[in-house]
Amino acid sequence: MEKKKILIVEDERDIAQLIQYNLEKAGYACEVAMTGEAGLAALAKYVFNLILLDVMLPGVDGLEVCRRIKQNPKLQHVPVMMLTAKGEEVDRIVGLELGADDYVVKPFSPRELVLRVKAIIRRMDGKVSFSEILHVGDLAVDFSKIQVSIKNKLIHLASKEYELLTTLIKAKGRVLSREQLLDAIWGYDEAIEIQTRTVDVHIRTLRKKLKDEAMRIVTVKGYGYRFNTEE
Ligand code: CA
Repeated sequence: MEKKKILIVEDERDIAQLIQYNLEKAGYACEVAMTGEAGLAALAKYVFNLILLDVMLPGVDGLEVCRRIKQNPKLQHVPVMMLTAKGEEVDRIVGLELGADDYVVKPFSPRELVLRVKAIIRRMDGKVSFSEILHVGDLAVDFSKIQVSIKNKLIHLASKEYELLTTLIKAKGRVLSREQLLDAIWGYDEAIEIQTRTVDVHIRTLRKKLKDEAMRIVTVKGYGYRFNTEE
């Protein structure tokens, strides 16, 4: 089987090498770019299955690189995992303007990073195609095209937001806890500290994008979320 390719955009050579070493040991093929420009150049030339993107880069920073990836129709489906330093605004990173798929806070354990990468790639591989379009209110979800629109206007969701939305829809009104959503979408290993806040952050950005249809995602206090299909 062909190896999955990962682009690592990181200006700190030691960190880039540590990541590369661990991902290659886990069976992935890696390319390292030391600047945002070099990362974008690599993306224009080769196809990658995942991008690991440092936020703080000289020149074009990671946030800008992420924005350009998610605005590019040819690249926006490629999952982006941001490498952030403590204190960088996580809401912004996974939020509306950027649409990154996940993030890891430095210093991270290589083992955790590899598990997260595996989880994302597994999710991308396992994407089930449905040849149906769900219409509810002004919202339409096309499962075969992985597209969501409101009033016939396409809206761009980050892959985690799309998975959150469709996981809730498929639960057919049942309440899903944050832990269930984390498990279903992020697939974290039990050994990893589970951050249920991650779910809340993505729900918040998803609701912003759903605009008038945001109320379909109902918070069940102290437990989790459900999807409301009532007209
Ligand atoms: Ca850096």
